[in-house]
Formats: sequence, structure tokens, C-alpha cells
Amino acid sequence: MTPPSPAQDTTRDAARHPALAAADPELAALVAAEEQLQADTLRLIPSENYVSAAVLEASGTVLQNKYSEGYPGRRYYEGQQNIDQVERLAVARAKAVFGTDHANVQPYSGSPANLAAYLAFAEPGDTVMGMALPMGGHLTHGWGVSATGRWFRGVQYGVRQDTGLIDFDAVRDLALKERPKLIFCGGTALPRTIDFAAFAEIAREAGAVLVADIAHIAGLVAGGAHPSPVPHADVVSTTTHKTLRGPRGAMLLAREEHAKAIDKAVFPGLQGGPHNQTTAAIAVALHEASLPSFRDYAHAVVANARALAEALLARGFVLVSGGTDNHLILMDLTPKDVPGKVAAKALDRAGIVVNYNTVPYDPRKPFDPSGVRIGTPSLTSRGLGTEHMAVVAEWIDRGVRAAREEDEDALAKIRAEVADLMSTHPAPGLPTG
Ligand SMILES: *Cc1c(COP(=O)(O)O)cnc(C)c1O
Repeated sequence: MTPPSPAQDTTRDAARHPALAAADPELAALVAAEEQLQADTLRLIPSENYVSAAVLEASGTVLQNKYSEGYPGRRYYEGQQNIDQVERLAVARAKAVFGTDHANVQPYSGSPANLAAYLAFAEPGDTVMGMALPMGGHLTHGWGVSATGRWFRGVQYGVRQDTGLIDFDAVRDLALKERPKLIFCGGTALPRTIDFAAFAEIAREAGAVLVADIAHIAGLVAGGAHPSPVPHADVVSTTTHKTLRGPRGAMLLAREEHAKAIDKAVFPGLQGGPHNQTTAAIAVALHEASLPSFRDYAHAVVANARALAEALLARGFVLVSGGTDNHLILMDLTPKDVPGKVAAKALDRAGIVVNYNTVPYDPRKPFDPSGVRIGTPSLTSRGLGTEHMAVVAEWIDRGVRAAREEDEDALAKIRAEVADLMSTHPAPGLPTG
């Protein structure tokens, strides 16, 4: 894609972002181009979504101008009359939506939220346990290149090669042998329901604090489409921008007994002033997540993923664990004879945005792996339903074949068909027409 030139037609930028278009046409053109890209393409990255216009507005407010280190009623700066209420609202809504004792809405993003859990419950050099990154875990669960793997001693579990499912016997053996301070469950490429009760039992036996990282599935949990970790985990960590459909940010939920430790770890342990515009947008997203329509959304995300998995299986795709229970599908493209990265780049040219990903026991390198990861949160936000999943699977199938055959014309044809369907399903928060 060639970047837009500032000389291109800027009427629409000016209409949507008049001050920005006047002050910085170059940047305004880039924003307009991104709006167009998000409108025209089929976005299948499972960690992405479209926030509502209300969430977008809240995150672009003058709340951004305010410093408020500390917590409501206990700040290090004056002038918190409104900010305290914004944060209290976000906290109250988080507690109500997830049914938890305590919520901290200040972490800047998912990675710092997880770091706060380390700071609260472990000392440098302590043993911590999480799922290995190539198995579907997250960098911040003790993987070597991450600060969490360098400053702590990370021991890692995975999935069984034959089933693609977590091997709980191995998890228990490892936990009892290594006695970690922290056990993380959850991940970035797990297509199946997480058994939080099983993890909690193991953590109890091993004397570890259990952190359930639901960054990917928070919206499904909020909407009742995935079991909640809240009754089982000591701490729940989540981003707010994935299935939860809020701004880029994060939250830590905890039992009352851990409330102080978590709050102290976030501030002053790790961060300075909270991003109040983000806190406000989190409050709006949590309000949206409390509505009956969000339950429908969460269940539709899962129904779409199931239908898409079925349609892909019918076309001969190999899916890790054989399918999906949630919003996410991990395809192993080895039998299709196309590396994940080649397929992902070709699909991008076809207007289908995915990411390449390792599959468990991947014989290829992480930067050039065998898999592609897809998910249904974004397309569901645009109102696509199970009836559309056959054509989505067909596009992926044709796109992967075109990648193998280096057929750019076939990719261009798919791109036009995708844009055509997308034009009839406007995206929340984006201009129409
Ligand atoms: C996305 C994700 C994170 C990190 O979130 P960032 O906001 O990108 O830092 C942490 N854990 C899991 C399981 C995730 O999926």
C-alpha cells in the first residue's frame, strides 16, 4: 500500500477531524487512510475490535489534561472533583460486570498489568510459572526475552501434542516440583475454554498465587460466553481493548485480601499518573458490556467462530485442537504447503487481515512459523453472522491457494469481494459512505 499523500482529497478528514485537518493535514490524512482501511477490510486478528463511537469520544476528551497520581480520595494533586468520580465509576462498573471484590483500572496496558502482579507477589529471582509462548502463552508469563523471564525464573507448561489441549497432569507435576510463587493461566492463542477451577486446585496444592490472564476473552466472560475466573483465581488480569471492546488499557481484579497489594504495585510500584481519558473510556465500555446487547454480541462471537471453524475444516484446513470454543482459531498451514507468514501477507493483499503465529510443537522459527491465527470479534461487531462464515472460509481458502500459486490477480479479486461485503456492514466508530 502506498501511504496517502497530504495532497490527496482532504474533505472527509476535515469533516471528521476539523482541527486536526487544519493543524496537521499530513497526520489527518494518515488517520483518514486508516479509517478507510479498517472500513474496507475483513479484520480477523482475534485481539482486535472496533470500539463504539462513544468509547472513541471518551478517549479523546480533556480528561487527558489532568494528573491524578494516587487513587480516588487519596491523590497527590488537587482538582480531582471530576476525575475521582470518573475512576470510581469505572471501578464500580468493573466490579459489577465481573462480580469481583476489587478492581484497579489504572494499568496502562496488559503487559504492565501483569508486571504489577509480579511486583505484588514475587521477588526478583523467584520461580514463576506460565504457558510457553510458542504453545500460546504470553511473553509476560515468564518467557525468556521478556523482563518477566529475565528477572524471574520462568518455568513453562504447554499443550499435549496429540490433542492440542493443556496437559493438566504435566501442569500439576511441574507446579509441585518447582513450587512457583505465581502461576499464570490464559494466553494469546488458546482456542479452547480455560479450566480455571483445575488451575486453582493446582495453585492451592503448590502454594502459588493464581493469576488468570483473560486479556483475550474478557468480553466473552463479561457476556457470559466463557466461564468466569473470578470465583477461582486470586487475581484476574485483563486488557480492555480486545473482546471487551474498550480503549487500549487494562484492569486487575482481585479478591479483597489482595486489594492493597495490587493497588500498591500499580501505583506507586510501577506507574505514575493514570491515563484518565482511558479510564473514562473503560467506564463507557463497561457500561456497554453490562447491556443485554453485549451478551448477544459475546455469544455471536463464539457462534461465528464455531461456524467459521466448521467451514474451514470442511475445506481441509487443520485447526489446532480440532476447532474452537471461543473467539479464536489457530490454523496449521503445513498441509496447505504455505508458511504462515507467506499466507498472512497474501491475505493482507486480499483485504483479509490476520497474523502469522506459531503452532504448538512448530518445527519452523517463531518469525516464520507454520500457523495463522484468526478470530471473530471484529467481524461480529460489524454485524456479520454465521450465515457469512462460509464465504469468509472460502476467501481464506482461495487466498491461501493464491499465496501458494503467487496469483496476485486472485488476491485482487478477493479484495474487491471483501470490500463489497464490508460496505454493507458499517463498522462502529467509523464514517459511513
Ligand atoms: C494482549 C495480551 C497481553 C498484553 O497486552 P498489551 O496491552 O499488548 O500489553 C497480556 N496477556 C495476554 C494473554 C494477552 O493476550
